[in-house]
Amino acid sequence: MSDPLLMIPGPIEISDAVFEATCVRPASHLAPGFKAAFARALKAMRTVWCATADHQPFVVAGGGTLAMEAVATNLVEPGAPVLVVNTGYFGDRMAEMLRRRGASVFQVGAAVGDAPSLAEVQEALVMHAPVAMFVTHVDTSTGVRTDAAALARLARQHGVLSVFDGVCATAAETFEQATWGADVVLTASQKAIGLPPGLALWVASPRALAAREALKTPPPMSLDWQAWLPVLQAYEAEGNAYFSTPPTTLIPALDVGLAELVREGMPAVFARHERAASAMRRAWDAMGLVPVSKHPANTLSALYWPAGTDASALGAILEHGAIVAGGLHPAIRAQYFRVGHMGEVTRSDADLLRTITAVADGLGLDARAGREAFGSAG
Ligand code: PMP
Repeated sequence: MSDPLLMIPGPIEISDAVFEATCVRPASHLAPGFKAAFARALKAMRTVWCATADHQPFVVAGGGTLAMEAVATNLVEPGAPVLVVNTGYFGDRMAEMLRRRGASVFQVGAAVGDAPSLAEVQEALVMHAPVAMFVTHVDTSTGVRTDAAALARLARQHGVLSVFDGVCATAAETFEQATWGADVVLTASQKAIGLPPGLALWVASPRALAAREALKTPPPMSLDWQAWLPVLQAYEAEGNAYFSTPPTTLIPALDVGLAELVREGMPAVFARHERAASAMRRAWDAMGLVPVSKHPANTLSALYWPAGTDASALGAILEHGAIVAGGLHPAIRAQYFRVGHMGEVTRSDADLLRTITAVADGLGLDARAGREAFGSAG
């Protein structure tokens, strides 16, 4: 049988072009070809984030956690009040990071699988007057998608910086950074961006850059936006700069991956994920699988194990051709599993149908019902 499909919510299957871009000998970080690729990648980030020329993209070796920490420590002073809109495991992580920064952390949460209402968030903004609000666009532990457009607007109305953890959303879920007025949108390379793990990526608004300039307590040196800014500006102009050696294999791969998204156009990329997710949801429903999330994301499905099954079925699903993930949210960890559907696989009904069949066969469910309900994602 062919290799099993990697259907966890990141890392994901990558395109052939991105894979080929990673199979090269390391270049100098000052090689003309590398500088040109870096410049193109930075420009493409603005398009993928739906940001404008006054927004600054950042690319730093690391993961989503590093991006979260960079944003937390560049925007927030110790002692400052901040609000976390918490929809799961990654909201907890954000809150803990902000606490370690010494911030006064207020949270507005909901039951597992749910999200707080806009009215509850507004009340918290009024009550705590935070300097910044942190939101997980899609919490990978619950499959909950927050109403990012409304939350970004709410933050603007209250004069509060808004930060979106888009690790499980960016380049898949509709997000218009400039139009919505979101201040920082962060992600990592291994999800809908379509690369292997290894890059922390974020785009900052002029307001966020100004907040960093006004910061009195410097962030850790390796995460300092002020140290990275001249380097990124130089690379965008294909000039020479050095602060810390950039990952010279991953950045040209980023250029290739983002170019694929830009060629397709972001409205089409978002619609492709919506179509694929709707078809997957129809299939799960027809097979009797129950979602964890009351606000299901387009990037993954979090599904309760059917009666009589548990995480020991992950092996059977793998044997039928798909690698899916177990639970992550501590309150329900043993009770559910997660299937990613972002990036390259959403171009292929065959891959999505293979995943549905693997899950059904691994769990003893009706694969035919799932496949019929899936219909055509296109
Ligand atoms: N935020 C979210 C929503 C995530 O899904 C993840 C990774 N699953 C992270 C943050 C952390 O990213 P990383 O594992 O790359 O540090």
